[in-house]
Amino acid sequence: MNADVPSPPSLPFSASVQSVPFIDLKRMHEPIHDELMRSIEDVVRSQQFVLGSVVCSLEQQLAQACGTAHAVGCASGTDALILALLALGIGPGDEVITSPFTFFATAGAIVRVGARPVFVDIDPQTFNIDPAAVEAAITRRTAAIVPVHLFGQLADMPALTSIADRHGLAVVEDACQAIGATLHGRPAGSWGDVGCFSLFPTKNLGAFGDGGFLTTNNAHLAGRLRQLRVHGDAGGYNHQFVGINSRLDALQAAIVQVKLRRLPEWTRLRQQNARRYAELFAECGLDQGGEVSLPFVRSDGEHVFNQFSLRVSRNRDDVLRQLRARGVGCTVYYPTPLHLQPCFASLGYRPGQLPFAEQAANEALALPIFPGLTAAEQRFVVANLEDIVRGTAGDAQPVRHAA
Ligand SMILES: *Cc1c(COP(=O)(O)O)cnc(C)c1O
Repeated sequence: MNADVPSPPSLPFSASVQSVPFIDLKRMHEPIHDELMRSIEDVVRSQQFVLGSVVCSLEQQLAQACGTAHAVGCASGTDALILALLALGIGPGDEVITSPFTFFATAGAIVRVGARPVFVDIDPQTFNIDPAAVEAAITRRTAAIVPVHLFGQLADMPALTSIADRHGLAVVEDACQAIGATLHGRPAGSWGDVGCFSLFPTKNLGAFGDGGFLTTNNAHLAGRLRQLRVHGDAGGYNHQFVGINSRLDALQAAIVQVKLRRLPEWTRLRQQNARRYAELFAECGLDQGGEVSLPFVRSDGEHVFNQFSLRVSRNRDDVLRQLRARGVGCTVYYPTPLHLQPCFASLGYRPGQLPFAEQAANEALALPIFPGLTAAEQRFVVANLEDIVRGTAGDAQPVRHAA
C-alpha cells in the first residue's frame, strides 16, 4: 500500500451523527418525566423532607435489589464509606488496605475517620485490587479491607473475604459504581460486612443531587448505622456515641424510587452498548492492533458498566484530546493514582511503587456507555478512534461519511 495515501476508515459512518456526549441523563429522565414529577409532588404535599416513610420504603427496595437484609440511606457515597468505618469502630491507629486506582473518596473516608490508608497494587486485567497484594500488606495494625468494584465489576470477593476471615479483618465494599453487579450470582454490597453505594447523578442509579446508602446483613451494624447518621441519637436525644449528620432527603428518595424500577432495563442497555463496542472493534480490527484494549469482563460475574474504560497503550492524552476535538465525549478515570496524590505525600509512596495502578492511570480512557446511546453514535465513536489510532487523518478532522 502507498504510504502517502491514507487508507479510508474501515467503518462506515452515519452522516447524521456530528458529536456524541460522554453522558446524557435526559435520555433516561425524559421518558419518565411525569412519573418523576408526581413522585416529587407527593413529597412536597407530605411536607416530610428528610428521612421518613419514602426513605423507609426505598431502603427496603434497595436491600432487596442488593440481596441484603438491611439498607440504610445517607447523604452520599462518601458518607456511606465514613459511616461504615465508624460503625465498625475503625479509627486512629488502624490501617485499612485499599486500591490506589479509584475515586478519591475511597481513601479520603479512611483518613477522615483517623485511620491510615495502605495502598496495594491492582490486577492489571480487571483494574481491581489484587488479593495477593492485600495479604502481603497485612500487619498487626490492619483493621479492614476496602475493595472497590471499579467501573461496575466486582473485585475478587471470594479471595478477599477468605483473607479477611483468616486474619479477622472487616470488609467494607466500595460498591458506589456497581449497583446490580454480581459475582457467582451474588450482588455487590452483599459480600462484605457493609456495602457502600452512591446515588450521585452519574452513577447507574442516580438521584437529582447527592445521596447514598449502605447495605448489610448484620442487624446490629444496621442499627448502629441508623444511629450514626443522626449524630448517634438512639432516640429521644439520647446520644451514646458521636455520629455525623448524613440523612437521605425524601425528595431524592422519591426520585430514586421511580428510577430503581428502570434500573434492570438501563443495566441491560449498558451491557448491550458494551457488547456493541466489542463488535465494532472487531469489525475494524481495532481489538487486534495492540494499541487499544477493551475492558476485561469476567465470565463468572455480571459487569454493570458504570464506565467503559479502554486501555490506550501509547499517547493516551493525545488520543483523548483528538477524540474530544472531533466531538467524541470521553474522559479519564483516574489520571493520578491515589498513592501519588499530593495530600498523601506524608504516607511516603513513590512513583514506580505500584506499577499496575500507575500504568492504568496512564492508559485508561472511558468512552460513552450511558443508556440511550445509539448504535450510530457508537459507530461514530469507534470510527473516530480507529482513525486517530491508525493516524489516517489530520488532527481534528471528524470523520462523518462512508468512504
Ligand atoms: C462516586 C464514588 C464515591 C463517592 O460517592 P459520592 O456520592 O460522590 O460521595 C466513592 N467511591 C467510588 C468508587 C465512587 O465512584
